Amino acid sequence: ELKENTVIVVFGASGDLAKKKTFPALFGLYRDGFLPTDVRIVGYARTKMDEAEFHKRTTSYIKNPDNNEEIAQKIETFKQISSYVSGGYEDDPSFQNLETYLRDLEAKTHKGKEHNRLFYLALPPSVFTPVAAHVRKNCYSADGVNRIIVEKPFGKDTESCRELLTALKEHWSEDETFRIDHYLGKEMVKNMLVLRFANIALNAAWDKNSISNVQITFKEPFGTEGRGGYFDEFGIIRDILQNHLLQVLSILTMERPVSFAAEDIRDEKVKVLRAIPPIERSDTLLGQYVSANGKPGYLDDDTVPKNSVCPTYAATTLWINNPRWEGVPFILKAGKGTSSFLSIRFPPLLQPTTLPISHYSSTLALNEAKVEVRIQFKDVTQGIFKDISRNEFVIRIQPSEAVYLKLNTKAPGLYTRALPTEMDLTYKRRFSETKIPEAYESLILDALKGDHSNFVRDDELDVAWKIFTPILHWIEGQDGPRPKPVSYPYGSRGPKELEAFITKYGFKRTQEGYQWPVTNLA
Ligand code: NAP
Ligand code: NAP
Repeated sequence: ELKENTVIVVFGASGDLAKKKTFPALFGLYRDGFLPTDVRIVGYARTKMDEAEFHKRTTSYIKNPDNNEEIAQKIETFKQISSYVSGGYEDDPSFQNLETYLRDLEAKTHKGKEHNRLFYLALPPSVFTPVAAHVRKNCYSADGVNRIIVEKPFGKDTESCRELLTALKEHWSEDETFRIDHYLGKEMVKNMLVLRFANIALNAAWDKNSISNVQITFKEPFGTEGRGGYFDEFGIIRDILQNHLLQVLSILTMERPVSFAAEDIRDEKVKVLRAIPPIERSDTLLGQYVSANGKPGYLDDDTVPKNSVCPTYAATTLWINNPRWEGVPFILKAGKGTSSFLSIRFPPLLQPTTLPISHYSSTLALNEAKVEVRIQFKDVTQGIFKDISRNEFVIRIQPSEAVYLKLNTKAPGLYTRALPTEMDLTYKRRFSETKIPEAYESLILDALKGDHSNFVRDDELDVAWKIFTPILHWIEGQDGPRPKPVSYPYGSRGPKELEAFITKYGFKRTQEGYQWPVTNLA
């Protein structure tokens, strides 16, 4: 349950994550009445700024497009419950000062009650350990619950991850620690448990007997754009595949948990991940985007080292060695500077057209990545049908959340012909009145309640790194020459080699000419 008398401390409050995600999410929870009563929020960072400047920054990404007065009012009261303290990350006096500040604040607002504290580390990894240690030493509430939220990156490979986990564990117990992978807070990722285990029709076909191949795809329609220095150190695999897409894969493939309790779910996730051997080089396709249509290539970004062979695109195929999934390829693919296409059928007189996703800026967030899971079923037994399309079950995680099943139906009319069609559950249409919460709102609320279900457990991280560490070391030249990624034009679907890569694993594209009859995505 929600702990009353809580102070939330956000470290790195001057940064990008705090401004874009943490504070807007805290506000979203506050606005909808989900924060504990009398909650106080304290921002902390080295930057010297007055409270006005702090409030300006932390509310700059809070949306109120229609100038709704009630929301405007809430923003003002939100400012009143948030304040800022400046200090260092590596010295006792700074944290002693913070402790004095927190005590004063609690004495004023939570007098005579227990004192609960939630510490959120929106910081670069170089200071995770010192901050965690200093907070534990100097700012740990003696008469309440203390919790700490940490963000990726959790190391760079198996060994560095273990070092980090060990260092943090010296100060914080697993029960107090909440490791964020924000994909676990996304509505459609959470929905996967319900789709799978609350539907006997789907569940019955969820194995190697029915499924041919699975793709989990991430496409981001922009490049590194000046943040290449950071990116080059990590690459697309660490940025997206090893954490976000692998989390999606584990929920998609795990066995049914005994209950929805956090440890039951996480036990099953770990179990399925442990059945995945390290990725083979031959199951890997690496790409890097080059300049096209006036847009710069990866190497044109001034912050990227010259001649870098860092992949901005990766497709990797994983195999699960258990009775349910043996032989089914799971293709995880992600690329920066790649574009998705939406097939849109316009009103009768106009021709069907295919346009880049970014064209529909009014209905889809222009810069939002497309993330989807595509489960392709096997062919029906040949004989009465030839060359008909396969069933596909697609979970679109973003943008515009949707679940759809591509299925063959008889083309209406006085003849018998199978036609690929779709059963469509587009959220904006089906749940038109419902606002889908932001991932960070959902996760911060879980942490406030002490629910670990949607956070990453230590042993989960360990197996996740074991799967990816060998190819990462190969890509980084630790055991021989570095592989050179193939190039693909900025704004394309990805490397042209992708087609052959996914075909090799049995993927068959829906027959030519299939069009989704959509006029309005909203
Ligand atoms: P950031 O803006 O680079 O850093 C946050 C704050 O930390 C800065 O405002 C700065 O505050 C302090 N800082 C920066 N570099 C430092 C250094 N070398 N040593 C000590 N302090 C330093 O980072 P961020 O983008 O907010 O990300 C924070 C964490 O969240 C990272 O672990 C990141 O990987 C993760 N993350 C970020 C995003 C995102 O959208 N940005 C998404 C997912 C995960 P002061 O100088 O004022 O102290
Ligand atoms: P699709 O976007 O046409 O893609 C189907 C598959 O074919 C994907 O794996 C895709 O690869 C691949 N592909 C796309 N273009 C290709 C090309 N030129 N060459 C080779 N491969 C290509 O998806 P769909 O599932 O058939 O859905 C049809 C359309 O309906 C989509 O645009 C979808 O967004 C839209 N839709 C609309 C609604 C709605 O409005 N209610 C709901 C759901 C879907 P990648 O994985 O690399 O993209």
